[in-house]
Amino acid sequence: MKAATWDDLTSSVCVGDSIRYWAPKRGYRNATFNIVAINGNRLDLTTKEGKPVEVHRKDFGKVAVQFDDLLQGTISRQELTKTSGRTAYILSLIRELNERLKRPHPKLGDLLSANSRVFLKSEYGPVSNEWPAVSFSVEGYARKLAEIFDTKEDWVLFAGTDDHDLTPPEFRKKLLCVVRIRSGPPVDSGVLVDPGRLNYFQQGDPKKFAYSLQATAAWKLATLPAARDLLKEKYGVIGRGQARKSYLILSPTEIDRLKDLPVARIALSVLPLDEFHLAEVIDSLEDQFDRLLGLLTRRAQLGGTAVSRNAPIRIVKLTKQDLREMWAEQGGLCRLCNAAIPRSTRNFLLQVSADRTDSKVETYSRANTQLTHLGCNYGKNSADAEQFADWLRIVRVANSLNHDDD
Ligand SMILES: [Zn+2]
Repeated sequence: MKAATWDDLTSSVCVGDSIRYWAPKRGYRNATFNIVAINGNRLDLTTKEGKPVEVHRKDFGKVAVQFDDLLQGTISRQELTKTSGRTAYILSLIRELNERLKRPHPKLGDLLSANSRVFLKSEYGPVSNEWPAVSFSVEGYARKLAEIFDTKEDWVLFAGTDDHDLTPPEFRKKLLCVVRIRSGPPVDSGVLVDPGRLNYFQQGDPKKFAYSLQATAAWKLATLPAARDLLKEKYGVIGRGQARKSYLILSPTEIDRLKDLPVARIALSVLPLDEFHLAEVIDSLEDQFDRLLGLLTRRAQLGGTAVSRNAPIRIVKLTKQDLREMWAEQGGLCRLCNAAIPRSTRNFLLQVSADRTDSKVETYSRANTQLTHLGCNYGKNSADAEQFADWLRIVRVANSLNHDDD
């Protein structure tokens, strides 16, 4: 049999999928692990006990080419474990992939359960890795959908507009794809969406598609059927007035009409959302402080576990009142670059962040903490003061040169 490939795997499995352990001879075990993130070259898994496991593309490839030999007994399981420390997971993934590839071409109805709801939304094109999100120009609509969407049952159905400027001809007035979204509030689209694409849409209207719900799985409609043929009434409404910026819930009869449509998976990179909490749209300084304290507390709880990227951070001794006073003392300026921190922003790099002046001290306290831009804090990271100053100087010089050209 042709060796299983990483691309086949990542375009077949979804975040949230639960995979049964399987090994040759032994067969299936009565236990599963879950897929939590799909990166370009890495799958993040978690066991039932909550242990995080990473499977890398390279390891997968090495095991996949030996899979047939293993089945035929030319090499032993023992020998295979020399190739990778993740063989229990990789063998199970290969088995799952092979089983899926054997199944017939799926139909939209296969993705639906009796409880599934389908939300019709007007769009300029299908979900892709450039635009791995369901995006709204009105925050309230994004929040409402996030609240009512069942991430295990429901789908958003994209229908192409007939806008001749923004919708490519092949997508106009067609049903495009169904999308499942991640739970949680909308985030700044700048974090998820290709900046070039976002800029293109936001010329003249900076709020256009500013609020995004991350796509965790998407299937395109293989034949791109005409929207009017199947959903005449709702498609007529969705293109007009406020409905254009919102969504409509399809009735069971309307869903029935869609069930036989063939679908094909859209391969999406689905990044872990942990960092995206930083990117929630923040409208006031007080909200920024709330977000910051929440983040520090969460990190303190995760401190020292594999989930935290940073060195263990154990104690947070800051209150909201401390943050208000620090803000006043610093005159609202970032202590790293000395420029103003905006009170409200959709750019997560400009949000207020807490930087420990001595990063060897684990505690966040008044004495050990200064307020900075999040971008500056990221930039400083483990650099020393001099390296950071060099970086700032270069960025500033480059910036002033650009402005001179204007
Ligand atoms: Zn700064």
